[in-house]
Amino acid sequence: MNLILLGPPGAGKGTQAQFIAKKFNLHQLSTGDILRDEIKNKTVVGKKIEQTIADGDFVVDVIVNNLLIKFITNPSYKNNIILDGYPRNINQAENLEIILNEDNQSINFILFLKVTREIIEKRILGRVTCEKCNKTFNKYLDMDEIERHECGNNYLKKREDDNQEVVITRYDEYMKKTKPVLDFYSPRDYFHEIDGSQKIQAISNKIEQILSV
Ligand code: AMP
Repeated sequence: MNLILLGPPGAGKGTQAQFIAKKFNLHQLSTGDILRDEIKNKTVVGKKIEQTIADGDFVVDVIVNNLLIKFITNPSYKNNIILDGYPRNINQAENLEIILNEDNQSINFILFLKVTREIIEKRILGRVTCEKCNKTFNKYLDMDEIERHECGNNYLKKREDDNQEVVITRYDEYMKKTKPVLDFYSPRDYFHEIDGSQKIQAISNKIEQILSV
């Protein structure tokens, strides 16, 4: 099955994508992670996009599309994909339809995590990610879990684009450009809106229920 997770930055897409990937044995394709890897590896693309990501703007479609197509059409990923962070605008949504059609694949589920801006600010400003295992925590909400984390606390880093000003830019950018993607997908019968302000476990349960039908 192929699945798209939609929702503003901080809605919990990454956390839920990790859960779904494990539970249903799927590959998580996070465009944010793929782009950050380019920066970390100091590739030509990485150097081009570094400032854009730091400012909270969208990376241009041609770069994201070219990176993504390699993963989507990879035979070992085929029909076993969770897309997290893509598509983010109508052009990307249309591009995705073309790539999938040409590769004899389709979308089976679209899950939209709906969350208010107030909750998002709190989540993003407290977010820390383990550089070793990529697990994400909130330093205000998950103190106990952080204490017990198996990789220790030395690898926990805050993302550079997780600051107040950039959070607002990213939220506004999302609302402006991704809203049409929701309008594009929402009439489909495999589109599901989920209350993303609930606790992580409650959201995971809801997702599991939807995907197990
Ligand atoms: P995320 O990890 O999903 O919050 O993405 C982090 C940043 O990567 C975003 O603020 C954008 O700058 C960039 N990015 C991620 N996915 C996309 C995409 N589909 N299109 C354009 N830019 C993206």
